[in-house]
Amino acid sequence: MPIHTVLGPIEAADLGRTSMHEHLLSDLRIWAKTPTELPPEGVEMGPELMAYLRWNFLSIPENIVLHDPTVAAEELAHVVTAGGSGVLELTLDGMGRRLAELPEISRRSGVHVMVGAGFYVEPTMPDDVRTADVDALTELLLTQLREGIDGTGIRPALLGEIGTSYPVTDAEWRSLRAAARAGAETGAAVYTHQSFRGMAGTEVLEVLIEEGMSPDRVIIGHLDEFWDKAYHRDIAQAGAVLAYDTFGSDFYYGSADLRNPTDAERLEMVEWLLSEGYADQLVIAQDVWAQANLRRNRGRGYDHLFARLALYRDHRRRPRGRGPDPHPPPPPTPGASMTDNTPTAAPAVVGNAVLIVVDIQGGTGTVALGDGGIPHMGGAAERRPRVRRTVDLARAAGVPVVWIQEVHKPSLVDIGRELDGAEGPHCIEGDDGTEIAAWLDPRPEEFVVRKRRYSAFFGTELEIVLKAYKAETLFLVGGLTDVCIHYTAVDAHQHD
Ligand SMILES: [Zn+2]
Repeated sequence: MPIHTVLGPIEAADLGRTSMHEHLLSDLRIWAKTPTELPPEGVEMGPELMAYLRWNFLSIPENIVLHDPTVAAEELAHVVTAGGSGVLELTLDGMGRRLAELPEISRRSGVHVMVGAGFYVEPTMPDDVRTADVDALTELLLTQLREGIDGTGIRPALLGEIGTSYPVTDAEWRSLRAAARAGAETGAAVYTHQSFRGMAGTEVLEVLIEEGMSPDRVIIGHLDEFWDKAYHRDIAQAGAVLAYDTFGSDFYYGSADLRNPTDAERLEMVEWLLSEGYADQLVIAQDVWAQANLRRNRGRGYDHLFARLALYRDHRRRPRGRGPDPHPPPPPTPGASMTDNTPTAAPAVVGNAVLIVVDIQGGTGTVALGDGGIPHMGGAAERRPRVRRTVDLARAAGVPVVWIQEVHKPSLVDIGRELDGAEGPHCIEGDDGTEIAAWLDPRPEEFVVRKRRYSAFFGTELEIVLKAYKAETLFLVGGLTDVCIHYTAVDAHQHD
């Protein structure tokens, strides 16, 4: 399925790192607040206003308008320098959308821009939308998905940000149901805007599923603005994608108790979600929507996510042995069994041990990408944290970890008899999903052995690697016990 950008369709493989929620041209003055502290007199929008805006983000209406396409293109261009490739522009009608100007911004910045369709919170809805029934709204969305929005020919990449207040209003429920029906019919994902005032995400997800959405096509937005582990876990367990999408904003709304989370807090959420095994159910973004977010005004810019978070990830992957590890393995997950799959000092370990992780692939697990040719085993969600913990414990105990990665050429010339059974083409070279699952965080000093058959020994350098480690005991962990694990175990036995 192609991805629709404002400059036309592209293949998923041509879209690199993408921020899943931004605004380039928007007008969200509906959120403006009466100031408790008056703004400094005679100071124009710019860096000098930042001290005031940090504490009074919504108190100058001009702050929450992004009006200049030239500025947008200049600010967005930094994304490319920082290694990014695309942004989703989720401004809808009633939010100051200026669709016709987006292609030029995309061209000038060199960044893929994708847009959404649907309706935001009720106060922004035009009267005819606010009063329309679900069928009429569904028809409207289907037309936009199939033919483009408002005669621009620009087709949405997904539905969103679908607005919900807390509590969700009747008109918003109708808009959600319509989005779900249109999404279910076309395969478009639905991205919601959740209020920071309450936990409506679970109920919203239930309604979307009731209307036919597959949960893995639903993204529940702004969850980093309501940090509650049980709430986030419920949404993850139901199979939906969580959006921690306000990175780079650390503002107050006129008082100490109304504030954004900090990036440190957001990263803590990310670490937690990864440790729970839900790395492939997370998207991140910044939701730039104000002057105070722009670089020219001393904000973090559209590139913060790509520049700073890549640094953070590399820092975490630093090889050990140069001072104390700032990121020791996470403590045991409550409820996770301490006894199964745990290579501690159990008597079963004889001599040098090596942990072999077989075919746990999936890359960054970006929702927009297509499926692999092998259905997931049931219970993957509960198993992931255990695999992650096994890897962490191995590293902590000095047991080398070896990654096995199955790959095949796009032409399938090397896939052989793997297609004889129930499997379709899978693990194609170059697909993000073929990379080792990012939530396992493979490290540069660890070996990756590529294989083209079930057994990790067949035609690979695994034996050399195991000799290098003087391996005497192997631990195997992986996806399909009766196939790749089985063949690898049998060969390990035969190789003594
Ligand atoms: Zn937004």
